Amino acid sequence: MLAGTAGDVAPRPAPTDSGVLVVAVIVQKYGGSSVADADAIKRVAKRITEARRAGDDVVVVVSAMGDTTDELIDLANRITPTPPLREMDILLTAGERISMSLLAMAIANLGVHAQSFTGQQAGVITDDSHGRARIVAVKADRIRKALAEGNVAIVAGFQGVNEASNDVTTLGRGGSDTTAVALAAAIGADVCEIYTDVDGVFTADPRIVPTAHKISRISYEEMLDMAASGAKVLNLRCVEYGRRHGVDIHVRSSFSAHTGTLVTDRPLPEGEGLMEQPLIAGVAHDRSEAKVTVVGVPDVPGTAARIFEVVAASGVNIDMIVQNVSAAATGLTDISFTLPADDGQKAIGALTDHQAEIGYGSLQYDDQIGKLSLIGAGMKSHPGVSAKLFGALRDAGINIEMISTSEIRVSVVTRADQLDDAVRAVHTAFDLDSSEGEAVVYGGTGR
Ligand code: ASP
Ligand code: MG
Repeated sequence: MLAGTAGDVAPRPAPTDSGVLVVAVIVQKYGGSSVADADAIKRVAKRITEARRAGDDVVVVVSAMGDTTDELIDLANRITPTPPLREMDILLTAGERISMSLLAMAIANLGVHAQSFTGQQAGVITDDSHGRARIVAVKADRIRKALAEGNVAIVAGFQGVNEASNDVTTLGRGGSDTTAVALAAAIGADVCEIYTDVDGVFTADPRIVPTAHKISRISYEEMLDMAASGAKVLNLRCVEYGRRHGVDIHVRSSFSAHTGTLVTDRPLPEGEGLMEQPLIAGVAHDRSEAKVTVVGVPDVPGTAARIFEVVAASGVNIDMIVQNVSAAATGLTDISFTLPADDGQKAIGALTDHQAEIGYGSLQYDDQIGKLSLIGAGMKSHPGVSAKLFGALRDAGINIEMISTSEIRVSVVTRADQLDDAVRAVHTAFDLDSSEGEAVVYGGTGR
């Protein structure tokens, strides 16, 4: 079985009339847990050479080994609590330089030509926001040339260069997925394979729900909501990029030969079943948020606007918002919202500075919360989804603190220490448990 051409995802193109085999171009991305040590790098190299020897043109995007990026961040924080962002980016891009060069060596060792390239060399052009740069163009001439000369091209994930300053940038945590999809779009690859430590996208995190089952096909819209709601298997911006540029993304394991999950909006090929849309795609969870409650807010026009103007001006993105009914006697209400816990101090600081002007009573901060989201495009046309979700949480004795909904998603906030139980209860209530044994987590620390 070829690594790069799983039957139902990227069928090898048929020979043309002249008998010439059409070469498929594939992008393979390997995450940190797939290249965690020397043995892992050799294993991955073998997989890559199999695809190459089958005749495909192969571009590989690689993440830093194991927890390297976290370790580099820890290291910087031991030097200074406020590392300059430009230097931070130079530091972090070193992680991917290590893995890309070692991988190129391992491939060469197997007798296949390989060359590694930094993001800059690969032509990944970004804006200038260090630490969260956006790709503005991919000028992949160098990669095309490397392929034309018969090489496997290895590209460092998660990094690029700003043309105006000539400074290297990083795309934000988990950004190698985006590099892979962007390169796939730029070179017109037939498929972009994202190799990770699980067999694909599951109906819940298999680390929490061992009975979760693999989703064989999912739309960009649902995958976007899964990623935005905390599913870490695919980076949010990579899914956005894939949707915008029509790149099919095959999420699969580097530890098995199983077909994974195809993220696509293409209809199923003729004759491959129904497919009525399943009601629910999956249950995502997120532990990275905190809740701020602004207590005793005057219930008059303009107060909510001021509160969120102040928070926005501090550069903080908020998620859910709940406003209580005001007590008639006092004319005061409470407003709660959630935000990334990492931004908690920023938001609290900004609101404290404006307390007198906004006229609220006090602030409460709570980072012991968890968020569960149920996602499925089928719920657009199906009543009773929220009721069933709340019923499952009631039966599990779990209190709901906040609720928000969209057309294809219902999210609730619970206590952090009840989140795992909540995910399992909801997964079961919506009949998502698989009877085919447990989902396998092959590697990674989940860090
Ligand atoms: N090494 C970077 C990180 O850990 C990028 C990536 O893995 O996608 O966030
Ligand atoms: Mg990583």
